[in-house]
Amino acid sequence: SQITTDMKTLTQDIDNFAKNKKLEIEALKIREEYRKEFIGNISHELKTPLFTVQGYISTLIDGAVKDKNIRSKYLRRADKGVERLIYIVKDLDMITQLESGTLRLDIESFDIVQLVQNVFDLLEMKAAKKKITLTFDMDYKKPIMVNGDKERLQQVLSNLIVNSIKYGHERGTTEVSIENLIKNKVIVRVTDNGEGIAKEHLPRLFERFYRVDKSGSRKEGGSGLGLAIVKHIIEAHDEKIYIESELGIGSEFSFTLEKAE
Ligand code: ADP
Repeated sequence: SQITTDMKTLTQDIDNFAKNKKLEIEALKIREEYRKEFIGNISHELKTPLFTVQGYISTLIDGAVKDKNIRSKYLRRADKGVERLIYIVKDLDMITQLESGTLRLDIESFDIVQLVQNVFDLLEMKAAKKKITLTFDMDYKKPIMVNGDKERLQQVLSNLIVNSIKYGHERGTTEVSIENLIKNKVIVRVTDNGEGIAKEHLPRLFERFYRVDKSGSRKEGGSGLGLAIVKHIIEAHDEKIYIESELGIGSEFSFTLEKAE
C-alpha cells in the first residue's frame, strides 16, 4: 500500500541522513587530526631555533657580554637564529595560503632564461661556500617566454636549487636546463649529483614537514616546507612536477610550464 511505501522511503531517508552525518563527523575528525598534526609540527620546527637564540642571549646576560669577541660572535649567531625563524614563519604563511587556495597567482609572460639567471646570481655565494658549481645549459641571450607567476616561480627555482646545494656534495654540480616539449610546453630541470634520495621516500617527499634524514636536514636549516610549497605552486599553475633520484648518484626535479605565444 501507499503507506508502506512512504514508510520505506522515510526509513531510507533517515538511514541516508544518519550515514551522511557519520561521514561528516568522520571528515571533521580527520580534519581535526590534520590540524593537530600541523600545529604539532609547527611547534617542533620553531623550537630548535628559538632555544638556540635563547641560549646565546642567556649566555650573554650571564656575563659573556663583557668579552668583545664572544659578544659579537654570539649576537651574530642569535641574529642567524632569528633570521631562520623568519624564514620558517614566511614558509608557513605561504603554505597556509596555498593550501586554503587564497593565494592568487599573478600570471604574466616573462623570460624564464632570465629568471634562472637571476636565481643563480642570488645563490652564487651560497653555492661557492660549498664549492658547488651552478651551470645553466642555455644560451642566456636567447629568451624563452613562458606564462606564469614570475615571483612564485622564482621561489620554485630557488627552493629546488637551494636544496641541491644543501644536499649536494662539496665541489658538486647543479645544472639547470630548459627543453621544449611537444605542443606549447617547456620542461625545466634542476639536476644535482648530490646524496640522492632512496626510492621509498619519493612518494612522500612533497608532503609538508617530510624529511628523509630528520636531524641532518633540520641542521641544514630548512623549514621542511620547501618541496610542499614547490608542488603547490606548480599545481596552482595546472602544471606537473616530477622527481627522479638515485641514492648516492643524485636527484633531478623537473616541472612543466606553458610557453607564451
Ligand atoms: P627541508 O630541506 O627544509 O628539510 P624540503 O621540503 O625542501 O625541506 O625537502 C624535504 C626533504 O627532501 C629534505 O629534508 C631532504 O631530505 C630531501 N631533499 C630535497 N631535495 C633534495 C636533493 N636535491 N637531494 C637530496 N635530498 C633532497
